[in-house]
Amino acid sequence: MNPWYTEYGDLLRSIFPDFKVQKISVNAGFSCPNRDGTISTGGCIYCNNRSFSPSYCDPSSSITEQITRGKEFFGRKYPRMKYLAYFQSYTSTFTTATDRLVSLWREALSVPDVVGLVIGTRPDCFPQKLVEILAEINRTTPVFVEFGVETSHDETLRIINRGHSWQDSVDAVTRSAEAGLHTGIHLIAGLPGESDDDVLTTVSRAVELLISSLKMHQLQVIRDTTLHRLISEKKISCDLYTPDRYLDLCVKIIRMTPRSIALERFVSSSPADLLVAPRWNLKNYQFVNLLHNRLKQLSKP
Ligand code: SF4
Repeated sequence: MNPWYTEYGDLLRSIFPDFKVQKISVNAGFSCPNRDGTISTGGCIYCNNRSFSPSYCDPSSSITEQITRGKEFFGRKYPRMKYLAYFQSYTSTFTTATDRLVSLWREALSVPDVVGLVIGTRPDCFPQKLVEILAEINRTTPVFVEFGVETSHDETLRIINRGHSWQDSVDAVTRSAEAGLHTGIHLIAGLPGESDDDVLTTVSRAVELLISSLKMHQLQVIRDTTLHRLISEKKISCDLYTPDRYLDLCVKIIRMTPRSIALERFVSSSPADLLVAPRWNLKNYQFVNLLHNRLKQLSKP
């Protein structure tokens, strides 16, 4: 047991005590309202969905095929593994065709060894009807909902062209958690104009919500994004984290997060061909090792 914080694996073990589980990303082919013109056409300024879509996740294949490929990928190492179908790409609840969406969820759950659903979405794409359907599924099969919240500061949300407010996040997270869904949020540290204190203010507001998990990462500048262009044209500046400064921030985040909330991730490592900056050359596990070493040093008498 990690002495400093609750790991996401601990949360999963409390829900699935008899086996290991692994998320398998699937792409259901939905778009995003922040890209298709419903909210805007530009998307969030840092977004390039290629940077977080695994290769086995191809929307031209059925959900069953995608999960089967994911199982082959992970099953080689852990043959007894079970899986959570992770509807991750773009905005996976952005559709008016609710029946189709529900049938995709059911299809995922019908694949052998799939034991739960993870739904990644925006706070403004979570109608009450979907909450009720997911709550019904959750009665027999665990459902996790992950909201891209990113920051609690509305001015930053405007700068990054996020297209929703902090209050939208509070409303969606509260409705999800009150319906009994395992509710997590995702935040980004180092957004344009934000200081460490701004990030910590967001974390302090986030941990007041009824969430069971928190996922963080440092801002990364990805090739061919609006953020990349704005920085190149010197129209925006970002104080990108060094590993050392980000370690300090993570220690503070850990200290303010109660044990009831699992910390799922601290860093993101985008593919090298897409990443412009910051180039840390650290894998996720290497950053976590550095973080644990720092926590160990700090806890020495
Ligand atoms: S980050 Fe998510 S919400 Fe923002 S544009 Fe990309 S897919 Fe849409």
